[in-house]
Amino acid sequence: MSHYILPASLPAYALAVLSTLEKGGYEAWVVGGWVRDALLGMPSHDVDVCTNAPWQESVRLLKAADIEVHCTGIQHGTVTAVLEGHPVEVTTYRVESGYSDLRHPDSVQFVDSIFDDLARRDLTINAMAYHPIRGLLDPYAGEKDLTLRLIRAVGDPYRRFSEDALRVLRAVRFAARLGFEVEPATQTALQQCAPELAHIARERIGHELTGIIATGHLAWAMRTQRCVLLAALPSLAPMVGFEQNSPYHCYDVYEHTMQVVAATECFAGGHASMRLRWASLLHDIGKPHTFTMDEKGQGHFFGHPSAGAQMSESILRMLALPTSLITPCLDLVRFHDRPVKATRHSVLRMMSDLDSRCPGQAVPLAFETLILKRADAMGKAAPYRSYAIEIDKIELILRELVGQQAPYRVKDLAISGADVVEVLGGRPGPWIGTILESVLREVVHGRLDNSKSAQVAWILGEKSV
Ligand code: ATP
Ligand code: MG
Repeated sequence: MSHYILPASLPAYALAVLSTLEKGGYEAWVVGGWVRDALLGMPSHDVDVCTNAPWQESVRLLKAADIEVHCTGIQHGTVTAVLEGHPVEVTTYRVESGYSDLRHPDSVQFVDSIFDDLARRDLTINAMAYHPIRGLLDPYAGEKDLTLRLIRAVGDPYRRFSEDALRVLRAVRFAARLGFEVEPATQTALQQCAPELAHIARERIGHELTGIIATGHLAWAMRTQRCVLLAALPSLAPMVGFEQNSPYHCYDVYEHTMQVVAATECFAGGHASMRLRWASLLHDIGKPHTFTMDEKGQGHFFGHPSAGAQMSESILRMLALPTSLITPCLDLVRFHDRPVKATRHSVLRMMSDLDSRCPGQAVPLAFETLILKRADAMGKAAPYRSYAIEIDKIELILRELVGQQAPYRVKDLAISGADVVEVLGGRPGPWIGTILESVLREVVHGRLDNSKSAQVAWILGEKSV
C-alpha cells in the first residue's frame, strides 16, 4: 500500500503561509504530525511549517501579507501565524540539544537545509516534509514505515533516545496511538534508555503519560513496554510480581491491574474518561503497602483503597496533572472496593458520598465507579468474575434513580434551611446544615419521604425527643 497526499487536502490557510514565505524568496515545507496523519488519511491536524527564513523575516513577510503573527518561541525560531482562527507554527530550520521544560529545547542552532532539520526529529514517521508542488520529502523512509506499521527512530536509536529520553515515551505514545509495532533495534534502545527518564522533568513525563493513556491502549503499553512505564512511573514497580495469596485472585497485582485497565476501556466502549483511566491504573497501587497474611496463609489488603488514594494523590500531583482530574480520580480509587448493594438506599448513599467530595459530579462518577468495579471483578479469579453481573443490577437502579431525580444532596430535599428556621425558630447558623444533613440521611435510607410535610413532622418529632 502506498500513501499519497492530495495537494488539495492541505488547508488553504496553510497554503497561504507557504506561499507568503516563498514569494519572499525563502523555502518552506509542512512538517511533522500533519504530514504523518495526512498520509494515514487521519483527520486534519495542526499544521507546522518549517522554513529557511530567519524568524524576523517570517514575521516581516507574514505581516506584510496582512496575516496575524505572534512571537511564540523566538528563542527557538518559532512564530505563530493565525489565519481564520487557525494557528500555524512557523519554525526556522534548526538543530537542537536538551529539553528541560515541556516543549522547548535548551539551545538551538539555526541551519540552512531542511534535511538537517528533519535529521533532528525523533521517529521516521515524524520526519517527513510535504510541499503541494514539490511533493513528499522523506529521507528516512517514514512512508515505508507507515506501510509496515513500524515505529522506528531516525538514525541510531540509542543515540536519539540518549539525547532526549522523553523520546522513549513519545515512541510508546505513537505506537499505542497508531497500533504500530516497535522495530527491534528501536525497541532495544527504548529499554536501554528508559532509565534516563529519571532525569526528565516530572511534568514532561506527566504530559507524555497522559498522551499514552489518552490513546485508550494503556493495557498494551503495560504488557509490551513494561520497563518504559516503570521507568516513567517507578511507584508502579512494587505491583510487579506481587502475589495476592487469595482465592479471589489468580494474578499478581500488576497483571490484575493490566486486566482491569483493559476491561475498563472495554466496558466504557473505548471512550473511558481520563480520570477513570488513571483510576484503573492506580486503583490497587496501595496493595503492596497494606498486605497482611492471616494464620491460614491468606493475603489481605485492608485499607488499600484509601492508602491507594493517598499514594495516587502524590503521584498525580508530582506529574502536575490538574486538580479537576485528580479529585474525582481519587474518589474512584477510594470507592473501587467499597460494597454497594443493588438497593435504592445503597446506591443513593454512594451518590451522596461522591457528591460530598466532588459536588455536581456524583452522577457521572457513580457510573464510572460501577465501570471500575465491573472491570475489577473481571480481573479476579474466574469464580468471582460473575460479580460483574451484580453490578448490572446496581446500574439499573442507578439509572432509575437518575431518571426519577431521586434526592441525594441537601439541595434536593423538599425542605430548605429557611423552612427549618421557620419551624424551629432561632438564629441562622451551622446547626441548620446539621439538621438538613440528618433529614437527608433519613431520606437516602428510605425512612422518610421527600415531602415538606413529612420532613417538618420529622424535625419536630426529633426536637421533642
Ligand atoms: P501530535 O501533536 O499529534 O501528538 P506531532 O507529531 O505533531 O503529534 P508534536 O509533539 O506536536 O507531535 O511535535 C511536532 C514534531 O516535532 C514531531 O512530529 C517531531 O517531528 C518533532 N518533535 C517533537 N518533539 C520532539 C522530540 N522530543 N525529539 C525530536 N523531535 C521532536
Ligand atoms: Mg503536534
